[in-house]
Amino acid sequence: MSTPSPVGAFIVPVTPLQQNCTVVWCEATRKAAVIDPGGEIDAILGEIARRGLTLEKIWVTHGHLDHAGATAELKAKSGCPIEGPHRDDLFWIEKIETQGALYGMPEARTFTTDRWLQHGDQVALGDTVWEVIHCPGHTPGHVVFFNREARFAQVGDVLFKGSIGRTDFPRGNHQDLLDAITGRLWPLGDDVRFVPGHGPMSTFGDERRSNPFVSDSALRRSAD
Ligand SMILES: [Zn+2]
Ligand SMILES: [Zn+2]
Repeated sequence: MSTPSPVGAFIVPVTPLQQNCTVVWCEATRKAAVIDPGGEIDAILGEIARRGLTLEKIWVTHGHLDHAGATAELKAKSGCPIEGPHRDDLFWIEKIETQGALYGMPEARTFTTDRWLQHGDQVALGDTVWEVIHCPGHTPGHVVFFNREARFAQVGDVLFKGSIGRTDFPRGNHQDLLDAITGRLWPLGDDVRFVPGHGPMSTFGDERRSNPFVSDSALRRSAD
C-alpha cells in the first residue's frame, strides 16, 4: 500500500490567458493556499468552501498580470497573508494596473506582499512545508513552490509541457531560464509532477525526454 499524499491540489484556469490558478492544501489540516490568483476570485473561494478547505495563504510565483492581478482582491476578501514572489519582480507588480488596461483586465490591481521570498526559503501550510526555488529568466523574480514529500511543484511560467517561458520581456534572460530549469528544477527528480502556468501538467522526467527546448538531447545538440 502506498502512503497517501500529504498534499491535495485543484486547478482553476483564470483570465482570458487561461492561467492555471492552483489551490493546494495540507490533507491533515485541510489548510489551503491559492497559488497565482489572476482572477475569478469568487469562483475560487466558492470551490474552496465547497471542498471544506480553510484558506490560509496566498502564494505568488511572479508579478505578471494573469498570475497576480487579483491578489489584492483575494487578500481583501480573505485576510490571508501574501507570500512571494522574489523582490526582483517588484517592477512587474507596480505595472499590473497599466498592463491590465492594455490587456483587457481593467479590474487587475497592484498589491503589497507580506513576505518577499528568496531561493532556499520555506513556506508552511498546515503540517506541510514547501520549498521556494528562485528561477529567474521569464521574469527576474520568479519563484517555484515545491513540496518534496508529495513530489509536486507549481512552476508558473518557467516550464510548460513541451515548452518554456518567454524571455523577450524587460529583464527576461534566456540563459538564466535554461540555467534555472536544468540547475534548480531537474535535480529535484524526474518523478516530480508539476503544474505549469498554462496548459496541461507534466513531469520533469517527461520534459527531460521530450521538451524541444530543454530535453537532455536538445541541450546536448545546442552545446555541440
Ligand atoms: Zn508570466
Ligand atoms: Zn502566464
